[in-house]
Amino acid sequence: MKAAFLSKPGTIYIEDIPRPACSPGRVLIRIKAVGLCGSDLHYFEEGRIGDHIVKEPHILGHESSGIVEEVGEGVRGFEPGDRVALEPGVPCLSCEFCLKGSYNLCPDVKFMGAPPYPGTFREYLTHDPQFTFRLPASVSFSQGALIEPFSVAYNALFKAEAGGGKSLLIIGAGPIGLACLEMALMSGSAPVIVSEPNRYRREVANKMGADLVIDPKKEDLLAGVQEGTAGSMCDCVIEASGAEGEVMSAVLALKKGGSVAVVGMGNETASIPLTQLLKKEATIRGIYRYANFYPPVINMLRSGKIIGESWVSHRFDLEDIEQAIRTASDPHAETLKMIITIGKEG
Ligand SMILES: [Zn+2]
Ligand SMILES: [Zn+2]
Repeated sequence: MKAAFLSKPGTIYIEDIPRPACSPGRVLIRIKAVGLCGSDLHYFEEGRIGDHIVKEPHILGHESSGIVEEVGEGVRGFEPGDRVALEPGVPCLSCEFCLKGSYNLCPDVKFMGAPPYPGTFREYLTHDPQFTFRLPASVSFSQGALIEPFSVAYNALFKAEAGGGKSLLIIGAGPIGLACLEMALMSGSAPVIVSEPNRYRREVANKMGADLVIDPKKEDLLAGVQEGTAGSMCDCVIEASGAEGEVMSAVLALKKGGSVAVVGMGNETASIPLTQLLKKEATIRGIYRYANFYPPVINMLRSGKIIGESWVSHRFDLEDIEQAIRTASDPHAETLKMIITIGKEG
């Protein structure tokens, strides 16, 4: 089978390797679609994220869907031919965080694509059936790959306490910001304001139905928020840009009692307007991956409440993964989520 290996920063190659055997307690999956994530680009460019370092040829990719090829001994609930999505992080299920249900905080999580755990830019792999989810017939493989970023977005909305007629500002209209936008509109957040410096991404946010889209390079963000909320500022803010200074803007854009969810990674530290934070009794919450959100996101896709296709910009074959990564890293290219398709359709 084919697999894409990152050998060192900037070098990725396709190699034929033996197909894995389906061991007891596992399912063997033929991968069909994998989303390219900002973290994949980061590994490609730097060869590391924090303590996760690419030390030997490594397979990236963690936003995946596919077809069950074989079911290992003792596994129930799956049959060959089932279309599935793969939740990439397999936690220990016995530490204090796992036992509380916050398994995204498990210190021993094995997360596909984060070294040393190989990812899904390959034709076949075996996975833990507890973290494998059947896809309804109406959900495409590409949508199956988007369940991962949608789960991150859902976690951000949940922690920002968005929805139900509350005003929301989304800072950054990359794939996660736009996934948040799609879910926020579905969940009745109003108005939903988006701030994004990239023209193409602003256009997409507009088309998707944002109530107000601001270019923070040309307009004053806080003045825009004030205008968009008839002077009351926002109940909720999601910081999805990871850009310098935006946690500060997020707190300033809040009304009293509001909450910020920070999902954009990028800076080790950020300044916050402490007096404002205190006087508003505002809340800032960090977002790290998700726990237990694959089932609700699959349900929203099944019912057509969310679709995801509007923030997919490109599709590439596995063979062209390097071109996909280079296009995604080009600051002048008009890009959003890219899907790597693997093998033939069907
Ligand atoms: Zn990702
Ligand atoms: Zn654990």
